[in-house]
Amino acid sequence: MAACKRVLTAFFVFGVTACGLTKAGASNPQSAIPNPQSLARDYHVTPVPFNQVQVRDGFWSPRLEVNRTVTIPYCFEKCEETDRISNFEKAAGLRQGKHVGIYFNDSDVYKVMEGAAYSLQVHPEAMMRLYLDKLIAIMAAAQWEDGYLYTFFSVPEKQPEKRWTNVKDLHEQYCMGHMFEAAVAHYQVTGSKAFLDVATRCADYLCRTFGPGKRTDPPGHQEIEIGLCRLYRVTGDSKYLDLAKFLLDQRGRTGNRGPKGDGKLYGEYAQDHIPVVEQTHAVGHSVRAMYMYTGMADVAALTGSMEYIKAIDTIWSDVVSTKFYVTGGIGASGGNEGFSGPYELPNLTAYCETCASFANIFWNHRMFLMSGDAKYLDVLERTLYNAALSGISMKGDRFFYPNPLESANGHERSPWFGCACCPSNVARFIPSVPGYAYASQGKDIYVNLFIGGTASIQTAGNKVTLKQETEYPWQGDVKITVEPEKSGTFAVYVRIPGWARNEPVPSDLYRFQDEAPESWRGQDARDTEERGQDARDTQGRDALATQGRDALARRPGNQVSLTVNGKPILSSVEEGFARLERQWQKGDTIELSLPMPVRRVLPHPAIRANRGRVALQRGPIVFCLEGPDNDGKVANLVIPDDARIEARHRPDLLNGVMILTGSAQIAKRTLEGGIVAAGTRPFTAIPYYAWAHRGRSPMTVWPARELSGARPEPADTLTYKSKTTASFVHVSLAAIKDQNLPANSGDASALHLDFWPHKGTTEWVQFEWPERHGLSSVQVYWFDDTGRGECRLPKSWQVLYRTADGKFEPAKSTTAYGVEKDTFNRVRFEPVTTDALKIEITLQDRWSAGIQEVILE
Ligand SMILES: [Zn+2]
Repeated sequence: MAACKRVLTAFFVFGVTACGLTKAGASNPQSAIPNPQSLARDYHVTPVPFNQVQVRDGFWSPRLEVNRTVTIPYCFEKCEETDRISNFEKAAGLRQGKHVGIYFNDSDVYKVMEGAAYSLQVHPEAMMRLYLDKLIAIMAAAQWEDGYLYTFFSVPEKQPEKRWTNVKDLHEQYCMGHMFEAAVAHYQVTGSKAFLDVATRCADYLCRTFGPGKRTDPPGHQEIEIGLCRLYRVTGDSKYLDLAKFLLDQRGRTGNRGPKGDGKLYGEYAQDHIPVVEQTHAVGHSVRAMYMYTGMADVAALTGSMEYIKAIDTIWSDVVSTKFYVTGGIGASGGNEGFSGPYELPNLTAYCETCASFANIFWNHRMFLMSGDAKYLDVLERTLYNAALSGISMKGDRFFYPNPLESANGHERSPWFGCACCPSNVARFIPSVPGYAYASQGKDIYVNLFIGGTASIQTAGNKVTLKQETEYPWQGDVKITVEPEKSGTFAVYVRIPGWARNEPVPSDLYRFQDEAPESWRGQDARDTEERGQDARDTQGRDALATQGRDALARRPGNQVSLTVNGKPILSSVEEGFARLERQWQKGDTIELSLPMPVRRVLPHPAIRANRGRVALQRGPIVFCLEGPDNDGKVANLVIPDDARIEARHRPDLLNGVMILTGSAQIAKRTLEGGIVAAGTRPFTAIPYYAWAHRGRSPMTVWPARELSGARPEPADTLTYKSKTTASFVHVSLAAIKDQNLPANSGDASALHLDFWPHKGTTEWVQFEWPERHGLSSVQVYWFDDTGRGECRLPKSWQVLYRTADGKFEPAKSTTAYGVEKDTFNRVRFEPVTTDALKIEITLQDRWSAGIQEVILE
């Protein structure tokens, strides 16, 4: 599709702007959709759509611009290069050939189109509009008579007998769900029904195929539920909502699945082990899970299902109390790309897929809209500024799939992936960020996030413009100018972030180490006239409100301050918001000051990976230590509790970031096996989201605060001092002599060497010295990742030594060569004097193997 490519290139080289699109682009998408009143129910709180928020912000404006000018065009180019778009052309009969790539590749094209539509809303560019029109025309031509659209079964010719033969794995519904989301976005932005018609034809076909008395297969990968709810919102046709609920309700029930009606449950991995309303814990693949909870929230809001609300509320508590990384990432395990058990939050192997972060934001935003409670926004903000932004490079064309919290040798973002869910999700997520900043409920307004710019908010009976000026997230001062069209009494709810109220997360999973600073200045500000009204009429909130008031009363002299027109305000914090209800006039100003000291975050003691360690946070930003600022090493550093830490803005570094500096101890192991502080050195921490922009190097979000939490520099043993080589290296060769002992053979946090993907081969590791040494024993602690990977104990091994004439001879062993798990296997041999020792390892057939640690004596 060279033509499209040319169009696209022209678009971003010249940045063509179309005057003809200004009108559509500037229109309110809500005007194009049925009056929300016509829906029987919806969320309690209404978000202010992103296109009603003009961002002028030092932090976000450049990111939005990079997404528009780099990420979206780049992702379209990649979709062309990788035949994702030509699959549609083939399905439309416009060219010949086989389907290329993964069966669910259609979804990536839809996601980038969704992002492009959002981008058009703010920057109505003719070339992009034309490009989308062209894609939509191809998709319409690729759609089957009956409405089915999925290129994998359409190329090289239609294969109707194969449709829905494997709903669990082939993701037809997943792709269609993304199509629905993109089509609704395109319609809302352009007013054109071209794409929406394709979507509704497809959805109508689904309604004929799935439902009571028909096929009952729920999707193997959730998403369509969200798409169907969006279609319902835009068309008002309740059968789409019914199908969304029906598909959710089929999870955990066999029903009439599969072509023969005898299909099985998909299991925990796909949250299909028990009915959704009985689920209480987050399990399985994290993106599937997050999309499901998001879809459940939508269906609950639109139907009023209390059962759904109860289920997702219980699951939310499980996530936030036991399965949530300090960066806001979720999904501890790469094996299932998802959740592990409670408090199992390893750093080195943390999965934290970029898509899961976005989806966690979708879910928490909806939980907020349902409840008006800012605890969900605290989760959203933590994920947004840390785990989610880590997924994309500053230049907008490199992406992380997993986002670990520690790296031994460094990571690098990739230009693309075979499974490109993450880049295409970036393209559609970033433009939607302004849509999380504000909301309204009746006459009242919520300020959720601190992003500079102007929001135009339609409330009941009024229209209010809010202007926000701030240097968040680097500074905590926020000035909000309120401009109601007509002056009137209403409340402005200003979020007081959890981190400013000594509550890093709405659970006990993490806490700030220091008690200070206290969170509210109110003691001195007894301006009763300005006092926010405490009464919230909603039932069940009284207890929380009382707690909030008590907390404020107990905390004199604390530092968060809030003024209206320069006068200090005494307001309670209810559900995370300061409620400012008064007669608002044009030009009234709210000034919020959130102090941003550097905070030390401590983990719940049950998180084994973080024992003896500390995370650094300032405002909403979580920091990490990275090689380039720390002499190439970070795991050996200890930041004592009393070390002074300074924050400083560095405009020249990483597009302008705040850095933290201080003095750390260097942990070193002694020959006796103890750990001592061997001197100090300055350390520098950078925001986690900005890591991996300066080449590969070690990184950690959780540096040690005690010697026991560090990976000490090894003692100068014979093993450590040797020059070490191996037949093949996967993970880390240095790890086998780092004197960091694993908890067991499967312990991935201790780092190891393995030979994967070599299987059934003979491998070796060699140790050399410039001089000869007397040796009589070798101990090996084997690596074995049964359950996760393909490394097993080896079949056999032997020790060889270099003789005076330079040849390797087997050592004469006096004990057996052990291959036991979870312990050192020691072999003794007749003493040799040598300058090189080699361990030769024969792998089991069809399996790889690895080594945790070696000791030569
Ligand atoms: Zn992804």
